[in-house]
Amino acid sequence: MKAMIELKNVTKHYHEVKAVDQLNLKILKGEIFGLLGPNGAGKSTTIHMLLGLTEPTEGEVYVCGIHATTRPIEVKKRVGFLPDDVGFYEDMTGLENLVLTAKLNGVKEDMAKERALSLLKQVGLQDAAHKKTGQFSRGMRQRLGLADVLMKNPEVVILDEPTLGIDPKGIQEFLTMIRSLSKEQGLTVLLSSHQLHQVQQICDRVGIFVKGSLLAQGDMESLQQQLFDDDSVQYKVEVGSKDEHAIESLRNLPFVKKVGLQPDGKWLVQLKKGNQGELAKKIVEMNLDLISLEKISYGLDDIYQRYFQGGEALGSS
Ligand code: ADP
Ligand code: MG
Repeated sequence: MKAMIELKNVTKHYHEVKAVDQLNLKILKGEIFGLLGPNGAGKSTTIHMLLGLTEPTEGEVYVCGIHATTRPIEVKKRVGFLPDDVGFYEDMTGLENLVLTAKLNGVKEDMAKERALSLLKQVGLQDAAHKKTGQFSRGMRQRLGLADVLMKNPEVVILDEPTLGIDPKGIQEFLTMIRSLSKEQGLTVLLSSHQLHQVQQICDRVGIFVKGSLLAQGDMESLQQQLFDDDSVQYKVEVGSKDEHAIESLRNLPFVKKVGLQPDGKWLVQLKKGNQGELAKKIVEMNLDLISLEKISYGLDDIYQRYFQGGEALGSS
């Protein structure tokens, strides 16, 4: 399948700072890819290289198969970019701003108006079409920004931290909108974020980006496999009887790696894969009155803790 965005061994230095470090990434047509990383990870720098706004120190960048560094105007024709702080003409209405964009792109006024009205409706701004953008909230500005980006019918949409400063309900609506637009029109979307939960909701694939390097990429399931110990699983165990030696006995079992006590009184048991039957059997043999045994899968919270906060993903034993 055709890669709509491709970075090959890309490194970017700003003097002594290495903002991006040997980045390799391919994003396919119709995919929604989330570039996820803390502040200063190099997300904006990566995006600016894709748009030809800044040049890589090393490596090659292609968008729609076009070399972004040497042919930025060709790229700009096909890519809609929503920067982290989008600007409008404040004393013009939402509609007037969109029509202006279209005219600057060579679209005739009546056609531009028709398209702008339809897009305003798509992004849920039909009621604000005739309101001056100076009075728009942050959420409304982002929606208008998205409509503006879509005015030129792009093949690729790039959004830099699009949900920053929007309230939770607005974020939800904005993300759902991006997902349905992408799926309806086969749009390729790259969005950056430092908010894991948001990215998880709408992205087909996610790249975990820290200090200029991609630590892992893939769908949620494959991220879990790449980022966490592969041959162990965790179970939450609830027992009825309170035997103080039980934890110690469990810890001594050959296939058990860790046992921790949770605040809710349940045990968190890490064991070698495939031994959960054995675990249940031992608990029963110990007369511990087994109430429940529930598999815990790693989620974004664990990834967040481990890679963004420098913490340990597993509870201490
Ligand atoms: P992010 O968007 O993930 O927060 P950036 O790409 O903005 O990260 O920044 C990555 C690193 O590059 C940071 O250390 C930042 O200070 C540095 N940087 C970004 N832009 C410039 C610039 N124009 N000049 C010098 N350093 C920069
Ligand atoms: Mg940024």
